[in-house]
Amino acid sequence: MSTQSSPFVVAATVAARKKAESIEKMKADLILPARAVRRLRPYDPVSSLDKIVHNGEGPEPLKLDWNESTMPPAPGVREALTKFLSATPRLNWYPPLAAGPLLQRLGDYTGLTSSSILVTNGSDDCLNLVCTTYLDEGDRVLVPYPTYTHLLVFAGARGAHIDPVAYDDPFKGELKAIMGAMTPATRLLYLVNPNNPTGVLYTPAEVRKILNAYPGTVVVVDEAYHEFGSQTCAPLVDEYPNLVVIRTFSKSFGLAGMRVGYLLAQPSRIQDMRRVHNPKSVNVMGLVAAAAALDDIPHMQRYVAQVTQSKELACKELSLSGLEVVNTPANWVLLRVPCPSVAIEALEKERVFVRDRSVFPQLYGFIRITLGTIEQTNELLVRLKRAFSELGWLQEG
Ligand SMILES: *Cc1c(COP(=O)(O)O)cnc(C)c1O
Repeated sequence: MSTQSSPFVVAATVAARKKAESIEKMKADLILPARAVRRLRPYDPVSSLDKIVHNGEGPEPLKLDWNESTMPPAPGVREALTKFLSATPRLNWYPPLAAGPLLQRLGDYTGLTSSSILVTNGSDDCLNLVCTTYLDEGDRVLVPYPTYTHLLVFAGARGAHIDPVAYDDPFKGELKAIMGAMTPATRLLYLVNPNNPTGVLYTPAEVRKILNAYPGTVVVVDEAYHEFGSQTCAPLVDEYPNLVVIRTFSKSFGLAGMRVGYLLAQPSRIQDMRRVHNPKSVNVMGLVAAAAALDDIPHMQRYVAQVTQSKELACKELSLSGLEVVNTPANWVLLRVPCPSVAIEALEKERVFVRDRSVFPQLYGFIRITLGTIEQTNELLVRLKRAFSELGWLQEG
């Protein structure tokens, strides 16, 4: 028998297949994201973790790209987790909904009552919660830019309109610029303080001016890095019903993998947000770890002190080598290089992982380097100078 089908049979088969495909496509096209979400693009995270995990050989990697702590959390965290896991098998139960012991410690730590605190699944979850609770389609959101972009996604998904505010010098805040861009229609202001990645910092007195002038605007102050040495706006919460302060355990406390954050606001605001907040969203291990971290605040403070010294050391050494470096009140410095992608590749060969921030036009040429202990910073400087001198980027000193 011939294996060749007649031209007629082939044509009929192709037609049938095409018809089936077009029906499948029509079915797939029936499902679309919400209108506002269609305007967003899938987030393409760039993390060095895969490279670090899969290239095991070589010197100790220096993961300095995501502003995580470079150190494990307080020893008590591991002990508390081990104890929790070896006690009754409580992983089969949902977490305690009131986050009791953690909430109590957060009250002591922040100086606010527990009715002013909401614990969340990382502080990114706070950002989502604020946007879901307060934003309607078409609302205006003011954002000094460049900044941490997650809020823009959550606000965009609500169909809100983002109004970016740019400063003349991206490294110098201008309250005037923010105040000038605010209108009574500004539903929400997102102020990362100190700002990631520029380090711009406003004092509580300056934030107070905004809160006073715009009582109808939800002012979100993201204090992810406040432990690294800046004054907090937490004490203003009792005075201002329009203030939401956001905090995290991911940076100074070294618990990024545990996903715990919290927000501070007046009890009536907390009640607003509890309409959409999922009380099960923080997992049991996160609750245990965060409470244990707060039992050893001196551990966190010692780390912060090291980071502060590391920043000074890095700024001094790098500027002596003729590089332009910008210090920040957080846990990183910014470094201007002739070509960020070349710098990143050269540093990766040294197993140093940093973040290209030149995606922001205002930060053209800048890479962001998270800093940790002094020992790690000394090692960073050795490797960075080796890589950059090979590229001819260092001034002979
Ligand atoms: C790192 C960071 C966060 C932290 O997010 P988590 O979800 O708590 O890990 C929040 N805001 C800013 C500005 C950050 O840089």
